[in-house]
Amino acid sequence: MIIFAAMNSIYYSVRMHAECNSRHLSGAERLVLPEQVESVTTDLLLRALQLSPDVVSVSVDKILSEQIEFGAIPSITLMPQVGYEQGRKEAVALLVEAGVTELSALRAIAAIANGASEAGFAMRGAMLVDVCSGERLEKDHTRGVRASRLDLTSAAALSLTTLLQQHDLTHLRTREALVLAAKVLAAPSVVAELCWSDAADYTAGYVASQKTGYCRFAQLKPLGDLRGGRAFFVRPDADLTATIAFLEQTPFLADRHGAIRSLEGRQ
Ligand code: AMP
Repeated sequence: MIIFAAMNSIYYSVRMHAECNSRHLSGAERLVLPEQVESVTTDLLLRALQLSPDVVSVSVDKILSEQIEFGAIPSITLMPQVGYEQGRKEAVALLVEAGVTELSALRAIAAIANGASEAGFAMRGAMLVDVCSGERLEKDHTRGVRASRLDLTSAAALSLTTLLQQHDLTHLRTREALVLAAKVLAAPSVVAELCWSDAADYTAGYVASQKTGYCRFAQLKPLGDLRGGRAFFVRPDADLTATIAFLEQTPFLADRHGAIRSLEGRQ
């Protein structure tokens, strides 16, 4: 594990959300030093504008460093290259290894595959799924629960980017998903996470848990499918108010990361 200390006392949480026809289009988050706010805000705005949105909201909130929880990006396993159907089967096996029942894993996969929002589209945030029954626990099935106020320290980002480049993982989404998984796994009562993207051209997804680390699949959905999503699996006795407060409110910076092992060549 490589650890980098963060010294500054003030950070800003910069959050972007874009919509089209009242539907979620894109969202992104950074937690940065004051001198980075201008360039990061511009980057997020430009990213949203490329998608021809109707509305883009950007918010900037001051965060004191004593409010920040520091944590680790999990170790990464690049899973063997298989089609999305086989990938989903292997994702279920990993979730079971992490402590999720097969029923719960299958229900979450079916919900994401069918479009988990009320209207059958991708949600804006994640489902909260009971690790035993597979019951959905989030109040709003369209908004879901957002993991927010999260980022990597600059030193950890530099080190992680170098490591990811060695495995040709240069897409910004990979880094963002790793940071999100780090925060989700640090949340009280969360056992595991399942994700695949809602972007039509991005088929990758992952299972993350303390037990398995972050296991990345190149394909968890067919190319062109706009249905993607996230499930955060929580213990049946979870204090959901505390879990959601941590995910949405507590500032989180990953200051260390694990290694990458590749099983990609294996079948
Ligand atoms: P993406 O990986 O950005 O394509 O997102 C895939 C899905 O994950 C989205 O459709 C949302 O349902 C969910 N999602 C995206 N960002 C977040 C977040 N910050 N917190 C919780 N869920 C999210």
